Amino acid sequence: MTTSIKAAIKTAIKTVPSSPRDRIRQQLADLKMPGALESLDQVLAAADGGSATPADAIEQLLAAQISLRNNRRLVAAMRSSRLPAVKTLADFDFSFQPSVKREQIESLHELGFLERRENVILLGPPGVGKSHLAISLAIAAAQSGRRVYYGTLADLITSLEEAAQAWHLSHRLKTLGFPSLLVVDEIGYLPITRTGAMLFFQLMSRRYEHASTVLTSNKGFEEWGDIFGDDVMAAALIDRLVHHCHIVNIRGNSYRMRNHADLQSAMQGALHPDFHSDSPPESGRRPTHAIHHPRKTAKERRP
Ligand code: ADP
Ligand code: MG
Repeated sequence: MTTSIKAAIKTAIKTVPSSPRDRIRQQLADLKMPGALESLDQVLAAADGGSATPADAIEQLLAAQISLRNNRRLVAAMRSSRLPAVKTLADFDFSFQPSVKREQIESLHELGFLERRENVILLGPPGVGKSHLAISLAIAAAQSGRRVYYGTLADLITSLEEAAQAWHLSHRLKTLGFPSLLVVDEIGYLPITRTGAMLFFQLMSRRYEHASTVLTSNKGFEEWGDIFGDDVMAAALIDRLVHHCHIVNIRGNSYRMRNHADLQSAMQGALHPDFHSDSPPESGRRPTHAIHHPRKTAKERRP
């Protein structure tokens, strides 16, 4: 404790205010609870007016402090995590995307999967809200005080490649292995070099069973061999990722194009004539060791 804070507390103790309201104000300042302090008058007015019980008033006071703390955490996380935007569960319109199970998404936002070091994989065509939900999970995690980091697959691989060239790879792997939640967005949009794929595999192996990763892809698992340029490595990667994993398979229209119904149907046919991925069981939670990945070899995929 700094000397100035000690002095302020001593002064506060010496000059005990007379009214309970002033004492609460001083106690909240002493406890460094500015959110609660700011809402005190309003909460007490509701209690005095009879519209809030004492329990309500205490709950409201604490909620105001928690809300301020969470916002501060979010501001700090937006600086350090490279999250590209603020997207929250509250902003997600479930009625637009009926294939997304509200209970599954709400349950994921309770963040038990982080405690259990499970992964989340969001699959589906462009614009259906994969990044939105990945970011909203990261924001919920940041607000709960966890360290989060966001990158597209291409960004993460570039940073690993740069680190490898500068002989800092182990340090970079440690840094990216550390956050409780890593978002790997946009798997499948850009081609990856073989070295890049190997570096990413190393990162995912490092995080496996240590920390959660949320991944998004516009390609089903059967196409990951092509994305990573190596069927065997893609199979090993998918094996680790889905071992403890929740899969959210979104089938629907692009939210970006919601006002262009005619374009929607044209796009769907042109972009993803047969988009599909391994569907999870109803709960979205895959039973451990009970996963079957039918994957075609490069040879089988050739026309
Ligand atoms: P994807 O990552 O699947 O390509 P995004 O998550 O980037 O799609 O969604 C595209 C835009 O549409 C984003 O601005 C996102 O916030 C918004 N969006 C997508 N789905 C929904 C939804 N169901 N409710 C509200 N906004 C949505
Ligand atoms: Mg996206």
